[in-house]
Amino acid sequence: MECRLCGSTRFRLSRLRVPDLSELVFLQYPIRCRVCYKREHVSLFTAFGIHRANKRRHAEERRQKKIQQANPARPA
Ligand SMILES: [Zn+2]
Repeated sequence: MECRLCGSTRFRLSRLRVPDLSELVFLQYPIRCRVCYKREHVSLFTAFGIHRANKRRHAEERRQKKIQQANPARPA
């Protein structure tokens, strides 16, 4: 999915606010664009997919960092 404002495909889960509770009833969860910070609601399933993709990416970044620390002579 793409951000309606800037077209970015990078999102993160937004913090829940009290008004979000009425959206949650309809299984809508707030997310935020990482580029333009626009906040919008998507289905819980989409939000969960974003969360999982972010977790995977963070794990991969940590792994790459460890590899670089173990081989400091290797160029990045
Ligand atoms: Zn955006």
